[in-house]
Amino acid sequence: MKIICIGRNYANHAKEMNAAIPTEPMFFMKPDTALLRDRDFYYPDFTKDLHYELELVVKITKMGKHIAPEFADNYFEKYGLGIDFTARDLQRKCKENGHPWEKAKAFDHSAVISQNFVPKETIDKNTSFELVKNDELVQSGCMNDMLFDIPSLISHISKYITLKPGDLLFTGTPEGVGPVQKGDILKGSLNGVQLFETHIK
Ligand code: MG
Repeated sequence: MKIICIGRNYANHAKEMNAAIPTEPMFFMKPDTALLRDRDFYYPDFTKDLHYELELVVKITKMGKHIAPEFADNYFEKYGLGIDFTARDLQRKCKENGHPWEKAKAFDHSAVISQNFVPKETIDKNTSFELVKNDELVQSGCMNDMLFDIPSLISHISKYITLKPGDLLFTGTPEGVGPVQKGDILKGSLNGVQLFETHIK
């Protein structure tokens, strides 16, 4: 399986990163070794500025290539939540040098994923998903604020890369990204239901 992540899919997040609003979806990938489910996260020693990015996650259930947006709905059934952990200091350097940013984004356990996914019929464009860090609400988003909706993302990615069952699509982070420290506890909820809890060690 593969993990495909969308960059800058919310205008206010692009703004907080001082980045341009994209005119087509931007994506990058993480390997399967990035997955972290129901386990503690150990702060890696190669960064001093690790950031959380809460994202709505779609699990692909059917193989497809060149999927038209109007048929994209047939390729997933559920939504989950995840964190796209980012070594922001390394990412900044990669960007400055025009280098790929995998070491800042695709490292081991950089993709937290919820154990549970919920049927897509229970979620609509205004359903909020939220991240609480140590009992403080730090991020809140909904699909309505996406620059590119999920059918557009699936269609765009599948022009280049065949999607297969089990692939995970991280759909971008809303505004409010920020640092984590050892000892922090991150809790993600969708529609008011907690889907994951991650302890930073
Ligand atoms: Mg992200």
